[in-house]
Amino acid sequence: MRISLAVLVAGGLSLVACSTSTSGAGTTMSPIASTTSAPTTLATTTTLASTTTVGPTTQAPTTQAPTTLVPTTLAPTTTAAPSDYLGEEVIGYSVQGRPIVASHRGTPGGTVILIVGVIHGNENAGLAILEQLRTMPLPPNTDLWLMDAMNPDGLANDVRHNGNGVDLNRNFPHDWTQIAEPGVWEYSGTGPASEPETQAFIAFSERIRPALTLWYHQDLYRISPSNRSDGPLRQRYAELTGLPIISVTGGTYTGVAATWVRTTVPDAMSFIIELGPTLAADEAVVHARAVLDIVTMV
Ligand SMILES: [Zn+2]
Repeated sequence: MRISLAVLVAGGLSLVACSTSTSGAGTTMSPIASTTSAPTTLATTTTLASTTTVGPTTQAPTTQAPTTLVPTTLAPTTTAAPSDYLGEEVIGYSVQGRPIVASHRGTPGGTVILIVGVIHGNENAGLAILEQLRTMPLPPNTDLWLMDAMNPDGLANDVRHNGNGVDLNRNFPHDWTQIAEPGVWEYSGTGPASEPETQAFIAFSERIRPALTLWYHQDLYRISPSNRSDGPLRQRYAELTGLPIISVTGGTYTGVAATWVRTTVPDAMSFIIELGPTLAADEAVVHARAVLDIVTMV
Protein backbone atom coordinates (compact mmCIF):
# COMPACT_ATOMS: atom_id res chain seq x y z
CA MET A 1 0.00 0.00 0.00
CA ARG A 2 2.78 2.32 0.90
CA ILE A 3 4.65 1.55 -2.29
CA SER A 4 1.67 2.30 -4.49
CA LEU A 5 1.27 5.61 -2.70
CA ALA A 6 4.87 6.38 -3.48
CA VAL A 7 4.26 5.58 -7.10
CA LEU A 8 1.26 7.85 -7.23
CA VAL A 9 3.22 10.59 -5.56
CA ALA A 10 6.11 9.97 -7.89
CA GLY A 11 3.84 10.20 -10.90
CA GLY A 12 2.27 13.39 -9.62
CA LEU A 13 5.52 14.97 -8.68
CA SER A 14 7.20 14.17 -11.93
CA LEU A 15 4.68 16.48 -13.51
CA VAL A 16 5.24 19.01 -10.78
CA ALA A 17 8.96 18.58 -11.19
CA CYS A 18 8.75 19.56 -14.83
CA SER A 19 6.79 22.75 -14.20
CA THR A 20 8.67 23.59 -11.01
CA SER A 21 12.06 23.25 -12.57
CA THR A 22 11.05 25.60 -15.33
CA SER A 23 9.67 28.24 -13.01
CA GLY A 24 12.45 27.53 -10.53
CA ALA A 25 15.05 28.29 -13.14
CA GLY A 26 13.31 31.56 -13.86
CA THR A 27 13.11 32.41 -10.15
CA THR A 28 16.75 31.74 -9.55
CA MET A 29 17.64 34.08 -12.32
CA SER A 30 15.83 36.88 -10.51
CA PRO A 31 18.16 38.11 -7.74
CA ILE A 32 15.33 39.92 -5.87
CA ALA A 33 13.09 36.94 -5.57
CA SER A 34 15.85 34.51 -4.62
CA THR A 35 15.57 35.09 -0.85
CA THR A 36 11.82 34.76 -0.61
CA SER A 37 11.60 31.91 -3.04
CA ALA A 38 14.35 29.93 -1.31
CA PRO A 39 12.13 28.26 1.31
CA THR A 40 9.60 27.37 -1.34
CA THR A 41 12.27 25.86 -3.51
CA LEU A 42 13.74 24.01 -0.55
CA ALA A 43 10.39 22.65 0.48
CA THR A 44 9.77 21.41 -3.01
CA THR A 45 13.21 19.91 -3.19
CA THR A 46 12.67 18.07 0.09
CA THR A 47 9.44 16.56 -1.12
CA LEU A 48 11.04 15.67 -4.39
CA ALA A 49 14.06 14.07 -2.79
CA SER A 50 12.41 10.69 -2.32
CA THR A 51 11.19 10.90 -5.87
CA THR A 52 14.49 11.72 -7.49
CA THR A 53 15.55 8.11 -7.75
CA VAL A 54 12.24 7.13 -9.27
CA GLY A 55 11.91 9.64 -12.02
CA PRO A 56 14.96 11.56 -13.09
CA THR A 57 13.53 11.46 -16.60
CA THR A 58 9.94 11.48 -17.71
CA GLN A 59 10.23 7.91 -18.97
CA ALA A 60 11.12 6.39 -15.63
CA PRO A 61 7.72 6.54 -13.89
CA THR A 62 6.02 4.91 -16.84
CA THR A 63 8.40 1.97 -16.98
CA GLN A 64 8.67 1.60 -13.22
CA ALA A 65 5.01 1.74 -12.37
CA PRO A 66 3.99 -1.77 -13.44
CA THR A 67 7.12 -3.31 -11.92
CA THR A 68 6.41 -1.67 -8.60
CA LEU A 69 2.73 -2.49 -8.67
CA VAL A 70 3.22 -6.23 -9.01
CA PRO A 71 4.98 -6.79 -5.67
CA THR A 72 2.61 -4.29 -4.08
CA THR A 73 -0.34 -6.49 -4.90
CA LEU A 74 1.41 -9.65 -3.78
CA ALA A 75 3.10 -8.32 -0.70
CA PRO A 76 1.25 -5.62 1.17
CA THR A 77 4.15 -5.17 3.52
CA THR A 78 4.99 -1.88 5.10
CA THR A 79 7.71 -1.01 7.52
CA ALA A 80 5.27 0.90 9.68
CA ALA A 81 3.75 -0.91 12.63
CA PRO A 82 0.04 -1.64 12.27
CA SER A 83 -2.40 0.21 14.51
CA ASP A 84 -2.98 -2.95 16.55
CA TYR A 85 0.74 -3.43 17.30
CA LEU A 86 1.21 -4.23 20.98
CA GLY A 87 4.98 -4.40 21.26
CA GLU A 88 7.83 -6.86 21.38
CA GLU A 89 9.11 -9.08 24.14
CA VAL A 90 12.41 -10.82 24.72
CA ILE A 91 11.27 -14.12 26.20
CA GLY A 92 14.75 -15.44 26.86
CA TYR A 93 18.22 -15.91 25.44
CA SER A 94 19.92 -18.59 23.39
CA VAL A 95 23.04 -20.55 24.32
CA GLN A 96 25.12 -18.00 22.42
CA GLY A 97 23.32 -15.08 24.05
CA ARG A 98 20.95 -14.07 21.27
CA PRO A 99 17.52 -12.77 22.29
CA ILE A 100 14.45 -14.84 21.52
CA VAL A 101 11.90 -12.26 20.51
CA ALA A 102 8.12 -12.42 20.29
CA SER A 103 6.18 -9.66 18.58
CA HIS A 104 2.63 -9.01 19.71
CA ARG A 105 -0.36 -7.53 17.91
CA GLY A 106 -4.11 -7.77 17.69
CA THR A 107 -6.71 -7.84 20.44
CA PRO A 108 -5.43 -8.47 23.96
CA GLY A 109 -7.61 -11.06 25.63
CA GLY A 110 -8.70 -12.51 22.30
CA THR A 111 -7.92 -15.95 20.91
CA VAL A 112 -4.21 -16.42 21.50
CA ILE A 113 -2.32 -17.54 18.41
CA LEU A 114 1.42 -18.20 18.33
CA ILE A 115 3.40 -18.60 15.14
CA VAL A 116 6.99 -19.83 15.28
CA GLY A 117 9.01 -19.17 12.16
CA VAL A 118 12.19 -21.09 12.94
CA ILE A 119 13.02 -23.89 15.36
CA HIS A 120 15.44 -25.68 13.05
CA GLY A 121 17.90 -22.94 12.19
CA ASN A 122 18.52 -23.99 8.61
CA GLU A 123 14.78 -24.05 7.82
CA ASN A 124 13.95 -20.37 7.62
CA ALA A 125 11.44 -20.01 4.75
CA GLY A 126 8.66 -19.42 7.27
CA LEU A 127 10.14 -16.04 8.13
CA ALA A 128 8.60 -14.57 4.99
CA ILE A 129 5.17 -15.69 6.20
CA LEU A 130 5.67 -14.07 9.58
CA GLU A 131 6.78 -10.91 7.82
CA GLN A 132 3.40 -10.81 6.07
CA LEU A 133 1.60 -11.48 9.32
CA ARG A 134 3.18 -8.42 10.89
CA THR A 135 0.95 -6.12 8.88
CA MET A 136 -1.96 -8.02 7.33
CA PRO A 137 -5.35 -7.10 8.80
CA LEU A 138 -6.28 -9.63 11.49
CA PRO A 139 -9.65 -11.27 12.06
CA PRO A 140 -11.52 -9.75 15.01
CA ASN A 141 -10.58 -10.97 18.47
CA THR A 142 -7.18 -12.33 17.43
CA ASP A 143 -4.37 -12.05 19.96
CA LEU A 144 -1.35 -12.81 17.79
CA TRP A 145 2.21 -13.54 18.81
CA LEU A 146 4.91 -13.86 16.16
CA MET A 147 8.15 -15.52 17.14
CA ASP A 148 10.57 -15.34 14.24
CA ALA A 149 13.07 -17.74 15.75
CA MET A 150 12.93 -19.86 18.83
CA ASN A 151 16.42 -20.95 17.73
CA PRO A 152 18.25 -17.71 16.91
CA ASP A 153 21.68 -19.38 17.10
CA GLY A 154 20.75 -21.98 14.54
CA LEU A 155 19.28 -19.26 12.32
CA ALA A 156 22.41 -17.12 12.59
CA ASN A 157 24.71 -20.08 11.98
CA ASP A 158 22.46 -21.69 9.35
CA VAL A 159 22.40 -25.01 11.18
CA ARG A 160 19.57 -27.18 12.48
CA HIS A 161 20.72 -27.20 16.10
CA ASN A 162 21.16 -24.64 18.84
CA GLY A 163 24.55 -23.50 20.14
CA ASN A 164 24.98 -26.76 22.05
CA GLY A 165 24.35 -28.90 19.00
CA VAL A 166 20.91 -29.87 20.31
CA ASP A 167 17.88 -30.44 18.10
CA LEU A 168 15.42 -28.24 19.99
CA ASN A 169 12.54 -30.12 18.43
CA ARG A 170 13.63 -33.23 20.35
CA ASN A 171 14.34 -31.39 23.61
CA PHE A 172 10.83 -30.71 24.92
CA PRO A 173 9.70 -32.44 28.10
CA HIS A 174 6.98 -34.52 26.54
CA ASP A 175 7.91 -38.12 25.86
CA TRP A 176 11.56 -37.06 25.89
CA THR A 177 14.13 -39.73 25.21
CA GLN A 178 17.87 -39.61 24.86
CA ILE A 179 18.68 -39.54 21.18
CA ALA A 180 22.31 -40.07 20.32
CA GLU A 181 25.01 -37.58 21.15
CA PRO A 182 26.22 -34.16 19.95
CA GLY A 183 26.88 -34.15 16.25
CA VAL A 184 23.92 -36.35 15.42
CA TRP A 185 21.05 -34.60 13.63
CA GLU A 186 18.39 -35.49 16.22
CA TYR A 187 20.56 -35.04 19.32
CA SER A 188 18.00 -34.47 22.06
CA GLY A 189 20.22 -32.80 24.67
CA THR A 190 21.30 -34.02 28.07
CA GLY A 191 17.75 -34.08 29.45
CA PRO A 192 14.21 -32.81 28.90
CA ALA A 193 14.24 -29.03 28.47
CA SER A 194 17.99 -28.95 29.06
CA GLU A 195 18.34 -26.01 26.66
CA PRO A 196 17.71 -22.34 27.50
CA GLU A 197 15.67 -21.87 24.33
CA THR A 198 13.32 -24.69 25.32
CA GLN A 199 13.02 -23.35 28.86
CA ALA A 200 12.24 -19.86 27.58
CA PHE A 201 9.60 -21.18 25.22
CA ILE A 202 7.96 -23.27 27.92
CA ALA A 203 7.75 -20.35 30.34
CA PHE A 204 6.38 -18.11 27.60
CA SER A 205 3.74 -20.49 26.30
CA GLU A 206 2.61 -21.47 29.78
CA ARG A 207 2.03 -17.77 30.37
CA ILE A 208 0.25 -16.82 27.15
CA ARG A 209 -1.46 -20.24 26.71
CA PRO A 210 -1.84 -20.23 22.93
CA ALA A 211 -5.02 -21.82 21.62
CA LEU A 212 -3.19 -22.50 18.36
CA THR A 213 0.54 -22.74 17.73
CA LEU A 214 1.96 -23.16 14.24
CA TRP A 215 5.52 -24.28 13.54
CA TYR A 216 7.23 -23.83 10.19
CA HIS A 217 9.73 -26.40 8.97
CA GLN A 218 11.28 -27.49 5.69
CA ASP A 219 11.39 -29.09 3.34
CA LEU A 220 9.09 -32.10 3.28
CA TYR A 221 6.26 -30.07 1.70
CA ARG A 222 3.34 -31.52 3.65
CA ILE A 223 1.15 -31.38 6.71
CA SER A 224 0.61 -34.50 8.78
CA PRO A 225 -2.98 -35.68 9.14
CA SER A 226 -4.65 -35.56 12.55
CA ASN A 227 -7.75 -37.04 14.15
CA ARG A 228 -7.65 -34.47 16.92
CA SER A 229 -9.46 -31.14 17.08
CA ASP A 230 -6.84 -29.51 14.87
CA GLY A 231 -7.53 -31.97 12.02
CA PRO A 232 -9.96 -29.65 10.18
CA LEU A 233 -7.53 -26.74 10.55
CA ARG A 234 -4.73 -28.77 9.01
CA GLN A 235 -7.06 -29.80 6.21
CA ARG A 236 -8.15 -26.22 5.55
CA TYR A 237 -4.59 -24.89 5.63
CA ALA A 238 -3.56 -27.61 3.20
CA GLU A 239 -6.42 -26.77 0.84
CA LEU A 240 -5.58 -23.08 0.87
CA THR A 241 -1.87 -23.55 0.24
CA GLY A 242 -1.76 -26.67 -1.91
CA LEU A 243 0.27 -28.62 0.63
CA PRO A 244 -0.64 -32.30 0.65
CA ILE A 245 -1.78 -34.04 3.83
CA ILE A 246 0.83 -36.75 4.28
CA SER A 247 2.40 -38.17 7.42
CA VAL A 248 5.88 -37.04 8.35
CA THR A 249 8.07 -40.07 8.84
CA GLY A 250 11.73 -40.96 9.00
CA GLY A 251 12.73 -39.54 12.37
CA THR A 252 12.38 -40.24 16.06
CA TYR A 253 9.61 -37.97 17.21
CA THR A 254 10.12 -37.61 20.92
CA GLY A 255 10.48 -34.34 22.80
CA VAL A 256 8.76 -32.56 19.90
CA ALA A 257 7.72 -28.95 20.57
CA ALA A 258 4.34 -29.06 18.80
CA THR A 259 3.36 -32.19 20.73
CA TRP A 260 4.47 -30.68 24.02
CA VAL A 261 2.27 -27.61 23.50
CA ARG A 262 -0.89 -29.54 22.70
CA THR A 263 -0.40 -31.98 25.56
CA THR A 264 0.51 -29.34 28.12
CA VAL A 265 -1.57 -26.26 27.43
CA PRO A 266 -5.24 -27.17 28.01
CA ASP A 267 -7.29 -27.44 24.80
CA ALA A 268 -4.35 -26.21 22.75
CA MET A 269 -3.95 -27.02 19.09
CA SER A 270 -0.46 -27.10 17.66
CA PHE A 271 0.90 -28.45 14.44
CA ILE A 272 3.81 -28.40 12.04
CA ILE A 273 3.75 -27.05 8.51
CA GLU A 274 6.50 -28.49 6.34
CA LEU A 275 7.22 -26.03 3.55
CA GLY A 276 9.12 -26.95 0.41
CA PRO A 277 12.77 -26.16 -0.27
CA THR A 278 11.92 -22.58 -1.21
CA LEU A 279 9.01 -20.21 -0.73
CA ALA A 280 8.33 -17.47 -3.25
CA ALA A 281 7.06 -14.08 -2.08
CA ASP A 282 3.57 -14.69 -3.46
CA GLU A 283 3.45 -18.09 -1.75
CA ALA A 284 4.33 -16.45 1.56
CA VAL A 285 1.27 -14.25 1.12
CA VAL A 286 -0.89 -17.29 0.40
CA HIS A 287 0.38 -18.97 3.56
CA ALA A 288 -0.15 -15.88 5.67
CA ARG A 289 -3.72 -15.67 4.43
CA ALA A 290 -4.19 -19.35 5.24
CA VAL A 291 -3.01 -18.69 8.79
CA LEU A 292 -5.53 -15.90 9.20
CA ASP A 293 -8.23 -18.11 7.73
CA ILE A 294 -7.74 -21.02 10.13
CA VAL A 295 -7.43 -18.62 13.04
CA THR A 296 -11.16 -18.08 12.67
CA MET A 297 -11.72 -21.82 13.15
CA VAL A 298 -10.04 -21.93 16.57
ZN1 LIG B 1 12.48 -29.05 10.84
